[in-house]
Amino acid sequence: MKFKMSLRVVLFGLGLLAVVGLTGMNVYSLYALHESTINTSVDNQKNQISEFTFQTRSRFRTSLRGMRALDMAELQHLINNGRDIPDSLLVIIRRIDEDPLFSGSYFLGKDIDPCQANEPLLRYNSKSGRMEMAGHYPEQVCDGINLARARMKSLVGEYQWNNRLIHDAERSMTVAMINPEDHSIAGYLTILVNEDYLINEFLAPGLVKFGNTRESGMTLWLHDWTVNEVLATNDSDVIYDIKKVEQIQRFPEMLENWNIKIAFHENPIVAASNKSLMRNLIILGVGVLLLLGSLVFIYTTAQREQNLARRQAGFLANVTHELKTPLAVMQAAGENLADGRVTSPERLSSYGKHIFNESVRLRKMIEKLLDVAKNEAGQTILKKAPNRVDELVKNFLRENESWIHEKGFKIALKRDKNIPLVMLDADSFFSIMGNLVENAIKYSTNDKYLGIEVIKDEKFVSVHVRDHGIGIPKSAQKYVFDKFYRVENEYTSNTKGHGLGLSIVKNLVELNGGIVTLKSQEGTGSVFTISFPVIVKPESASPSKNILKVAPRAEYVS
Ligand code: ADP
Repeated sequence: MKFKMSLRVVLFGLGLLAVVGLTGMNVYSLYALHESTINTSVDNQKNQISEFTFQTRSRFRTSLRGMRALDMAELQHLINNGRDIPDSLLVIIRRIDEDPLFSGSYFLGKDIDPCQANEPLLRYNSKSGRMEMAGHYPEQVCDGINLARARMKSLVGEYQWNNRLIHDAERSMTVAMINPEDHSIAGYLTILVNEDYLINEFLAPGLVKFGNTRESGMTLWLHDWTVNEVLATNDSDVIYDIKKVEQIQRFPEMLENWNIKIAFHENPIVAASNKSLMRNLIILGVGVLLLLGSLVFIYTTAQREQNLARRQAGFLANVTHELKTPLAVMQAAGENLADGRVTSPERLSSYGKHIFNESVRLRKMIEKLLDVAKNEAGQTILKKAPNRVDELVKNFLRENESWIHEKGFKIALKRDKNIPLVMLDADSFFSIMGNLVENAIKYSTNDKYLGIEVIKDEKFVSVHVRDHGIGIPKSAQKYVFDKFYRVENEYTSNTKGHGLGLSIVKNLVELNGGIVTLKSQEGTGSVFTISFPVIVKPESASPSKNILKVAPRAEYVS
């Protein structure tokens, strides 16, 4: 038995541990999945924006195609000899001229500063379709060429390609043309950028394509950090605020005064992932609770079954002994009487009393056993009828007061006036009262007090059976109505009983539609209360006000 018990505790513990462990693992992997969904989604968005900046870079180069195939040595030769720009380069310059992203092309055939040295500079004329001497030229052109010259000074020695693009912010783009044979500069083609077109026709629509904040889960601002100005956005409803910015994306090797500032919000994928995380956690929680609930249920039921089996076994041993003892006493007394060995009147009466008492004990026990057996078989027969509980109590006391007095108990009876009728089987009521009163007497020591109060309220008629006995410990109170349960203490073990009385009481009270409750304090006494629902209100009784105000009156003290 003990082994089984400890095995059960161990298995229960392991079961709990498994549930907790599995739950922990599940919650962890749900969160990990959620995190990775968010990260993947944010990474995707970052990649898309980075890709956009590379597309911008390519856009600048679309009109320059064919530059790689140019023979720079030939170009250098022609220019040095004062000849015209070759057609192969002119084709490219014409294409650039038609591209709305650009607003003018200038060519300088030498590696010198045109703005200082006053060197001749060629400008493409759209009307004539040719390069012509530029009388005056904008400052951006000088700046662009100067920037390109400075860059190429350090680069040109090892440079293997025949051209190199150098951007001067959003102002211009200069192609340095390189003769790879001797690493010298053949010329500079400086192209002015149409800023308006770049922003309004290319970058702004590009940002809008990502969708607004709600659709994409992010706000994008094309920002000029040199003047702190937003040039374009994907959502004009969201005001730019540097505090909201979580990521900054630059343009590769170009537009260095500008960047894309990004604020991330909850995007639809993250929102869906949040939702599914929540749903999964709830399902998991409910599942775990159910599992824990079933584990605890199985454990406690097994525990209860085991306790019941133990009590039943104890009861069997006990009851056979209890049945045999009175029989043996009666048998011996009967034998003596039959033999005619007892003749004196005192002894005759004493033998008679013995036989009587033992047969009463035997009858009571058999009655209890029958009650339990009938209840188990669902065969308790009730003859319910409207009854006045105070009258039933009076009848009960009339029949039982002599033996109660004999036990040295005083009865204090209190009852409210005008007790209403309740539906009740009178036999059950006597059995209930018999058990409660018997217990009050059995479990009292010096203070032999039996209080019986019949009270009423709006809905119930209740009977309190009160004693000043040993009381019932708090921990045992919820078990006393269980079959075969007896409080484990010295006094109870020295008192005859089988743990059936209160289970019979509870069963009979409930069969009669009532409830039984217990209030008890160890060492002070106990009150058992049985309550039955009212079916008819007495005519003269006014409602609860009276009941509350009029204290129960002692009508009968014996
Ligand atoms: P028993 O035959 O043992 O009296 P019961 O079912 O009537 O069986 O009672 C169950 C247990 O509850 C008793 O063994 C006793 O420990 C406790 N008990 C019942 N009534 C009282 C009471 N009035 N005062 C103290 N203990 C009580």
